[in-house]
Amino acid sequence: MDFTAGLMPLETALTQMLDRISPLQDVETLPLGRGFGRIAARDIVSPLNVPGFDNSAMDGYAVRLADVATGNALPVAGKAFAGQPFNAAWPVGTCVRIMTGAPVPAGCDAVVMQEETEQTDGGVRVTASVNAGQNIRRAGEDITLGTVVYAAGQKLTVAELPVLASLGIAELVVVRKVRVAIFSTGDELQLPGQPLQEGQIYDTNRLAVHLMLEQLGCEVINLGIIPDDPQKLRAAFIEADNAADVVISSGGVSVGEADYTKILLEELGEIGFWKLAIKPGKPFAFGKLAHSWFCGLPGNPVSAALTFYQLVLPMLAKLSGNTASPLPLRQRVRAATRLKKSPGRLDFQRGILTRNAEGALEVSTTGHQGSHIFSSFSQGNCFIVLERERGNVEAGEWVEVESFNHLFGG
Ligand code: AMP
Ligand code: MG
Repeated sequence: MDFTAGLMPLETALTQMLDRISPLQDVETLPLGRGFGRIAARDIVSPLNVPGFDNSAMDGYAVRLADVATGNALPVAGKAFAGQPFNAAWPVGTCVRIMTGAPVPAGCDAVVMQEETEQTDGGVRVTASVNAGQNIRRAGEDITLGTVVYAAGQKLTVAELPVLASLGIAELVVVRKVRVAIFSTGDELQLPGQPLQEGQIYDTNRLAVHLMLEQLGCEVINLGIIPDDPQKLRAAFIEADNAADVVISSGGVSVGEADYTKILLEELGEIGFWKLAIKPGKPFAFGKLAHSWFCGLPGNPVSAALTFYQLVLPMLAKLSGNTASPLPLRQRVRAATRLKKSPGRLDFQRGILTRNAEGALEVSTTGHQGSHIFSSFSQGNCFIVLERERGNVEAGEWVEVESFNHLFGG
């Protein structure tokens, strides 16, 4: 019997989700210093040249090539400091003492670094050959006035915000945060801090999802634990749908008798229930409620975190207007250990990526890969992504790995 028939490939599910949603259009204005992690809502055009003026890259002497060519020592006509230009007349046959960042005086062909000069009674003698333009940082060399520095959709981080500061930009127009309502479903779930009754377990998924959403810069509306009771679930879905752009639940999406999510969502919205050809994480739901998008994560914690990471994260990235690829690049490395795998589903095993004695990257397994072994995220630092049709992997075979991003400590 083929247990993999009817399973949807991850890429198909992802394409179907991403094709349907479009980025939020609402924007907000923020001071530059509060923009970390936000998405630019408009193209950011440079109001300045950077550098703003030709300036010295070295501490040394500003010279004219014709004066250097004479071989004469050059008396020092004056000094230029960063923030204090040399504006006096610059007589032929002299040089100007100049510090890093100071504007070069008009007519200057090059800056000679201090180490390539010697002091003589007659002035400064240049001891090395001098090329036109050397040690001069040209106006607009980094960023030219009027060009688009960052296109709309750029995520603004420590790589971008200081550049905007260098342009004198004090305010940002960014896409508003995505609002996400979350809840866990299950009669067996208990809050940490409360005693467990027989058969109860602590709610893991809601914290995992809440933390990931916060790290992604979403606004989280946390509706707690909802029991497997159709009335209470219906009320939770309606409250979540009214409050958020996206509703994320966990549990109740498989085919057990207390799995009401499917029935309710058929009533309240338009929902696709998918059995995905991935491991862990087979059951996953996606669809549209009256006002929001819905994602139903599987109950098993590793499956919930994995489907969030591989499916919900790209969806949230698109909704937030972020145009960059949301997940780290995959790379090919050798397996250092045997990896158990049966054909039929795309596997996301947790692995440990290290450098071996020869300096090459290699990956080993974190051990037990059960969908309840959440500690594997902490032991590992990457996913080992094993193709759908692949079977067991022997040590030494090539495999693809995807390093964890910052959500899992990467
Ligand atoms: P379900 O999809 O609701 O049948 O749940 C599948 C498995 O995941 C069961 O063993 C549940 O007890 C467990 N589970 C469901 N929700 C959670 C949760 N929020 N935290 C930890 N385990 C859960
Ligand atoms: Mg359940």
